[in-house]
Amino acid sequence: MHIPASEGRASVFYQYKVYPYRHPSEMDETRTVQSVVVVGAGPIGLATALDLARFGVPVTILEEDLQLSEGSRAIVLTRRSLEILQQLGVEKPFLDKGLPWSHGRSFFRGQEIYKMIMPYDEDDRYLPGLNIQQQYIEEYLVDYCRTEKLIDIRWGQKVLAVSQNDSAVTLRIDTPEGEYDLVASWVVAADGGRSTIRKLLQLRMEGRAYPGNFVIADIKTKIDLPTERLCFFDPAWNPGNNVLVHRQPDDLWRIDFRLPDGETAERALEPELLHTRINAVLEMINQRNEWQLDWATVYSANTLTLADYVHGRILLTGDAAHLLPIFGVRGVNTGFQDCNNLAWKLTFVINGWAGLNLLQSYTQERVQAAREICEEGGKSTRFMTPPSRGTRLLRDAVLSFSLSEDFLKDLLHWRTSRPHDYHNSPLNSFLEADREFGGGVGLGQPLRNVKLASNDYFLDRIGSRAGFHLIVFVGERGLTPSLGEILSASANEPFPIFRTVIGVSVRAAAGLDDVIITDEEGRVSGKYEGTPGTVYLVRPDLHVCARWHLTSRDQVSLALRRAVAH
Ligand SMILES: Cc1cc2nc3c(=O)[nH]c(=O)nc-3n(C[C@H](O)[C@H](O)[C@H](O)COP(=O)(O)OP(=O)(O)OC[C@H]3O[C@@H](n4cnc5c(N)ncnc54)[C@H](O)[C@@H]3O)c2cc1C
Repeated sequence: MHIPASEGRASVFYQYKVYPYRHPSEMDETRTVQSVVVVGAGPIGLATALDLARFGVPVTILEEDLQLSEGSRAIVLTRRSLEILQQLGVEKPFLDKGLPWSHGRSFFRGQEIYKMIMPYDEDDRYLPGLNIQQQYIEEYLVDYCRTEKLIDIRWGQKVLAVSQNDSAVTLRIDTPEGEYDLVASWVVAADGGRSTIRKLLQLRMEGRAYPGNFVIADIKTKIDLPTERLCFFDPAWNPGNNVLVHRQPDDLWRIDFRLPDGETAERALEPELLHTRINAVLEMINQRNEWQLDWATVYSANTLTLADYVHGRILLTGDAAHLLPIFGVRGVNTGFQDCNNLAWKLTFVINGWAGLNLLQSYTQERVQAAREICEEGGKSTRFMTPPSRGTRLLRDAVLSFSLSEDFLKDLLHWRTSRPHDYHNSPLNSFLEADREFGGGVGLGQPLRNVKLASNDYFLDRIGSRAGFHLIVFVGERGLTPSLGEILSASANEPFPIFRTVIGVSVRAAAGLDDVIITDEEGRVSGKYEGTPGTVYLVRPDLHVCARWHLTSRDQVSLALRRAVAH
């Protein structure tokens, strides 16, 4: 019998709600087959459910706990994650609560050596980072899931076993009332780093685990410093190691430091030692205020991924599929890109709009993304926690020369989580037409935002419409017959295709449902290298899969076939 804790977790800033366990009807009735079951109500399971519901797919979420997870965990959302949340129509509370930021400073032995400025310009609706505790990320997503009729969250239900055949997956579930079976056409395993499903399927991850342990401690205290990422190498109180400091909402501060080699997690979390070290960090940033500890834990860095995220009718995502170092804010931000990639593909397969091959492209694109992150995140990790005496010497040499040599400072750049380009995706087509562009947004890249004269943004206009997008650029005379034909033919596809017409003076657009953008200053056409006749074909996760300066109805139709893996 699974008896989840029914007391809310302790926190000095967050009031944990305990959600009710509900008796599952499958315990006493004939079993119905669920369309999709998501295992895990972490950020990625919840976002996947919302994305599937956006496409009209009903989802049941199984969560072993009765409450949100412990600790602030993933505290930084990237701009790409906010764009994905905007696509799900849920970004507002995140923006209201979170603290936006765009730069960081690094210090070596007390002296500032580098100011990291993350790129952004006036076309970006969001700053590169937004600090917000994971409790809020989960709370807001749960709130949206609870108002969505297509989503059923079952709290206090733990998956114990799984089996599958060609047409369905059966989950054995333990609850406070005993066990029952739930049958689903598809299961999304979003059950986190210690994924039960990954273990049950006996899947092994590839990559490496890094030596060295870090403490994460959250303290509540009033500190008058801006929202920026502070990184201290080799401070006097923690020689040879490093310390990170991040501001969060509610006067919560994240302190993250590497432990001396050989020190155990138990020793590091002993209250007296932890207290002394936190005071040393505060002293270092010239703060001597009272503080309260909210949460502390010890972690180590991994760059691990499964080689395949699709196993029959079971699809793995988020931390269940990969374990990435937190340097560069990679965990939750990578997971949001997974779910955005997976949800439309699964919908298309469920609705018979695409064959099973489309799901293979989920694995191809997202495993490649995870491998790139492992490579990039591995570099940051080796810099933060040198694995040998030689690498430490080299790292320290770079740090000390950075005090006087500007050219070395680039080596200190903290490559953060970025939007992935599916440049080699099998879903892309018309590569030669893509090569005719000198700029714009290339094959596999996500759409880029542009500030419009009306003071809103290009991606606001694309909105949360769930389907493919045809974006066409027109000249003074509006739609040409050929562009009109391309737009009208899109209505014959079995799946939704939304149309956006952009031009200096968009007089003759195709239909009432089209989004029309009057681009008087040429800002959108400049960013997209859009000339009259240019067409972009964009997937439902807003990655470009074909583009032409001049095309025809047949070419667009071929590209669509390719994009759904036909
Ligand atoms: C201690 C810690 C500190 C972290 N710190 C940072 C950080 O500073 N920065 C950062 O970017 N990332 C951090 N992360 C990583 C970040 O939290 C994850 O990347 C993110 O939570 C991944 O989301 P997810 O939904 O894939 O998995 P999770 O958030 O782990 O969610 C999985 C969910 O599945 C549920 N579940 C598990 N097994 C079962 C089962 N058998 N049946 C039903 N439900 C089940 C769990 O209860 C949980 O709710 C941290 C993670 C941990 C554990």
